[in-house]
Amino acid sequence: MLDTTPLRSTVALVTGASSGIGQATARRLAAEGATVVLVARRQDRIDLLAKEIVEQGGDALALAADLTDAVAAAGVVAATVEQLGRLDTVVNAAGVMLLGDSAQAPLHEWQQMVDVNLKGLLHVTKAALPHLVDAATTSPRQVADVVNISSIAGRFAIPNAAVYNATKFGVTAATESWRQEFARRNVRFSVVEPGLVETELMSHQQAPVRERMEARFADVEQLRPDDIAEAVAYVVTSPRRRAVAEIVIRPTDQV
Ligand code: NDP
Repeated sequence: MLDTTPLRSTVALVTGASSGIGQATARRLAAEGATVVLVARRQDRIDLLAKEIVEQGGDALALAADLTDAVAAAGVVAATVEQLGRLDTVVNAAGVMLLGDSAQAPLHEWQQMVDVNLKGLLHVTKAALPHLVDAATTSPRQVADVVNISSIAGRFAIPNAAVYNATKFGVTAATESWRQEFARRNVRFSVVEPGLVETELMSHQQAPVRERMEARFADVEQLRPDDIAEAVAYVVTSPRRRAVAEIVIRPTDQV
């Protein structure tokens, strides 16, 4: 018989769970049977999502943290293992995109992208590694997963996106290096690289940049967060023998 809850008895930590791709992924992994740990700064949002998941028969724990703070990031991993006893899956979805003319760009926007997209992901992954190796060794599934949400901007550089490109190329490169390093220890590392997804990501940009981008993509039917969540679910519910290293997903009409 088909197992409808392949992640039963596993714990999945999802960053960026207050919005967009992370939120949809947390819902989806909970539906696959995982106990989900919801991480983001906005406590009210993750509390609400945890409540929704529990009401639907799932298990969830909301842990607010600013992942740019290495101690706070390690703290959510430690609290996960302390309260739930294990960690099998990490989905690093927290991120910011602040594009625009490099000569005019405020330096703090560049720093924020490096701090969240790259350093935040490194902080969480570093703290999680020993627990993932342990889960892959001791769990009945004999496998653990890290799925990093990079971007098509992690494969192709474009103008006005130098630092976003740099962070996402960095995520893609680190993920491939970790994949090789941990393959023989049954910890799979995957990168999911979406094109345009309808989320709050665009809303954080300065108005002129946002308006230019909205005009440029006005006739594109954007992906939905659930489209990405489905890709993540495919990766992490794959049987132990199958490691999905990389998935690129674009809206059909995005060139
Ligand atoms: P959203 O803006 O909807 O979500 C971003 C998430 O990141 C929020 O949950 C936010 O939570 C969290 N976050 C931001 N800063 C921090 C921080 N300092 N500490 C902890 N959490 C933080 O965007 P998306 O869902 O679209 O983005 C998710 C990922 O997908 C990002 O990495 C993005 O680069 C990538 N991506 C998105 C695409 C798109 O078109 N939308 C395309 C390709 C890739 P909070 O504010 O509560 O802390």
